[in-house]
Amino acid sequence: MKIGIIGAGQLGRMLALAGYPLGQRFVFLDQSEDAPGAQVGRILQGAFDDPVQLARLAEEVDIITFDVENVPVDAVREIARKRPFLPPVDALGASQDRLDEKTLFRRLKIPTPQFAAVDSLDDLRAAAKRIGIPGVLKTRRLGYDGRGQYFLREDADVEKAWAALGTVPLIYEGFVDFSREVSIIGVRSTKGEMRCYPLSANTHSAGILRYTTAPYTNASLQKQAQTYLKRLLKHFDYAGVLTIEFFVRRGKLVANEMAPRVHNSGHWTIEGAQTSQFENHVRAILGLPLGSTEPIGHSAMLNFIGTMPDIASVLTVPGVHFHGYGKEPRPNRKIGHCTVTATSAAARDRALRSLMKLKTS
Ligand code: AMP
Repeated sequence: MKIGIIGAGQLGRMLALAGYPLGQRFVFLDQSEDAPGAQVGRILQGAFDDPVQLARLAEEVDIITFDVENVPVDAVREIARKRPFLPPVDALGASQDRLDEKTLFRRLKIPTPQFAAVDSLDDLRAAAKRIGIPGVLKTRRLGYDGRGQYFLREDADVEKAWAALGTVPLIYEGFVDFSREVSIIGVRSTKGEMRCYPLSANTHSAGILRYTTAPYTNASLQKQAQTYLKRLLKHFDYAGVLTIEFFVRRGKLVANEMAPRVHNSGHWTIEGAQTSQFENHVRAILGLPLGSTEPIGHSAMLNFIGTMPDIASVLTVPGVHFHGYGKEPRPNRKIGHCTVTATSAAARDRALRSLMKLKTS
């Protein structure tokens, strides 16, 4: 089969790298001819909603998937009529708008922070009064890695937050005083087979994922996360990998957001699980049997953000695997990661600490 991937970022590149051993071929659509996917496949150059290039992609391939969320839904509905387009367009659409996403969570009884739509300064004043401060004002669309967010800590921040973000539709959320952040990655095939990976524990700073450790073992949280994830998978009649990011507050999960794709917090599965999230995504959309999601030992994934560490120093750490995406270093840009796998959580944490000392961002 020939698989078309809209977006040729590092996720698309890792999807193709996982799909080649299964005998699949890949073509990307991306604006940039030297995006990471170019190292492993041909790129059709164009915007994600370029009708000519989308039609060409649909002509050339048997099935279409994507590696980014900001693919315009209206543009792809057209090609979804010509070729299987997975994960479903509706899941893509729901993930693009934080208000729609949280409204859906609420409808499916997946706990969320308190939230309110904000379209005016008065709305924000009312939301801050009802939900309380601290809270977070976020753009409904196109926010990622902490962009398009304003944390409100005191009453005076209401006007400041509005001045910073008030030109686009917004959502105000109550601040969740979480003890940690976790994510679950699950996969459903076109045949309805479902599997979930163990929870990942994620550490962010300035809104960007810095490192993940997995498996995060907590039977009660794992059960809650799987229940919520399966609810979403069934709701969308989903095929492919789906991720939900949660806050943990007093032993319960509160959903922050979902991503209808492979996820940065699942990069550890390449070396740390029986089957990687990337391979399982390819298997799922092709209707092939899914692979085991069991972890192999204890893993940590550390992102390289803005600057690359010296590869030779990284490779001195026992059990480490290095991934460079071939991207130009730029502040706050994810340009690579490394994963370390160990036989115990303590050994893994020791290795992670040595990696962190290597100045990776
Ligand atoms: P997001 O872009 O929504 O994933 O947010 C990025 C990061 O900001 C999250 O991983 C949290 O660390 C923090 N954050 C976002 N929303 C909230 C919230 N409602 N309460 C507390 N922290 C938040």
